[in-house]
Amino acid sequence: MIAQGFIQDLLARVDIVEVVGRSVALKKAGQNYLGLCPFHGEKTPSFTVSPSKQFFHCFGCGAHGSAIGFLMDHRGLGYVEAVQELAQIAGIPVPRDASRDGPAAGQRRSLLEANETACAYYRRELKGSPVAIEYLKSRGLTGATAARFALGFAPDQWQGLKAAFDSYEEPRLVEAGLVVEADAERSDRKRYDRFRGRVMFPIRDRRGSVIGFGARVLDGSQPKYLNSPETPLFRKGQELYGLYEAAEAIRRKHRVLVCEGYLDVIQLSQAGFEESVAALGTAITSQHVATLLRLTDTVVFAFDGDDAGRNAARRALHATLAVIPDTKRVSFALLPQGEDPDSLIRNFGAAAFETELARALSLSQWFLKSLSEGLDVSQPEGRAALTAAAKPLLESMPAGALRMQLVRALAEVVGTAAGDLEALYGLSPARRLPESAGPARGATRARPSGRPVEALKSQLLRRLLAYPALAREFAQALGGLLEQGGEPVDGQIAEVLQAATAHADTSCAALLEALGESEFADQYRALCARDLHLDDDDLEAVRCELRDGVLALEEARVKSELSALERQELSDEVRQRIPMLTSRLNELKHQRGTATVTAGLVKP
Ligand SMILES: [Zn+2]
Repeated sequence: MIAQGFIQDLLARVDIVEVVGRSVALKKAGQNYLGLCPFHGEKTPSFTVSPSKQFFHCFGCGAHGSAIGFLMDHRGLGYVEAVQELAQIAGIPVPRDASRDGPAAGQRRSLLEANETACAYYRRELKGSPVAIEYLKSRGLTGATAARFALGFAPDQWQGLKAAFDSYEEPRLVEAGLVVEADAERSDRKRYDRFRGRVMFPIRDRRGSVIGFGARVLDGSQPKYLNSPETPLFRKGQELYGLYEAAEAIRRKHRVLVCEGYLDVIQLSQAGFEESVAALGTAITSQHVATLLRLTDTVVFAFDGDDAGRNAARRALHATLAVIPDTKRVSFALLPQGEDPDSLIRNFGAAAFETELARALSLSQWFLKSLSEGLDVSQPEGRAALTAAAKPLLESMPAGALRMQLVRALAEVVGTAAGDLEALYGLSPARRLPESAGPARGATRARPSGRPVEALKSQLLRRLLAYPALAREFAQALGGLLEQGGEPVDGQIAEVLQAATAHADTSCAALLEALGESEFADQYRALCARDLHLDDDDLEAVRCELRDGVLALEEARVKSELSALERQELSDEVRQRIPMLTSRLNELKHQRGTATVTAGLVKP
């Protein structure tokens, strides 16, 4: 949405040390700055900010990113909002045509206004509706809580919103999902309100703007809940109810509670669990979980103790496994049969809910429990069924310590060796990078590389990310040595070289932003975080390393061509090619002999 050129300019003009320093006390330590991590509780600083790379990384919890990423994670802002905030700090206007004022943005603003108008109308109507007020009171909700969540009431009228808008015919009322356009042949009433006779729950984005509504009937009629349809503002699989209201508490308490319904969120919040959110009438998605894990270290799912609740918890487990890094904690509180957070708190009080949270199952416990439900693991058949059921879940996980632990726990239950299970599943062991400076998010998601050439390429990729200037310098030499359609790492190097040459003078963080749309973006960021200790003094050593790497790659290529030719019949062409390659190989070996003397100077 925002032009990459502008992002690059912006990142070149702000200093991440200043941006982070506004909320974290930083002390200079060598070339970098250190402070107490704002994303997890710690007493000794492991939160590192690199001025040369314009990148931060916490060696405790693995949080990392650019100045934009910091604002997103720390302030709970979306990407565009973070860019706007950063631009404000830097005193640079966001170009009009670059972001907000495109046709899509104009429509967005107009829909947001329509929602705000409707929200204000519903709130007024609630004040004048004794039935609705009585309903909320019967649920134990106070006026202050209703105000905090901007609750409202849609009266039971076909065109109630006529009172709120100048023209009921505006197309945006339909686009925002507030008004339904009826099939003209089947009804005289061409348009009517979507929400009638319902308590209204405005759904806000991270900045507090109303992007949609949830609505609940007061009586037993159906459907009990009705939500805004998908609109340009509202994507159910991405948004979480209550996140705006909960953001501050999530940061303060270092955890987030995920429950199933709007009323659960509101009830929990009123009872002191302000860190609560819910999905919007859909199952929890990996995108939801990833959003929450960016904000905090600990996610607790608190689901109803009925079949639907258990199914929701099962789906939440699947969504979590695909995205959870080793450094985060996710647990599952399955409430007693027949209770949801709302009823539990109303019937037994906040302490009872806290007890349930304390009893929550860890991810590994729920993993084993949910999979073995209905199976008799005392029998070989049951154990085999469990082994089979676990396979797709483990396969969906990034290789890493957590997956290893789950495999071990499973191995114990099914009575086999963890190694045998891994072999049975065809899971490859976690990839070991040549050097490790601490845990990093997503770093282990890369495909393992057993071949030395692939390992070399992976190492080169890291260096290119850490030193965009060297990436530009070696772009041509390296580009010619990559295999088209080869291992993923070839494509990754090509992508990084391309981004580095497209933007002159990029810092490491700015290069990562330019690669933000890549499917490997997370992996690139994790690699950079690991190399935060490399500084500009190492530039010459890294240059030598790259020079040697280029020679080594060419050497490997010449060798492989030679061995292929040696298996072929001796045509004239082959006869000429072999001595050429042999002489090039000797040349390379000679050059490398001198180059390797200077390689390996880089500190681990
Ligand atoms: Zn941290």
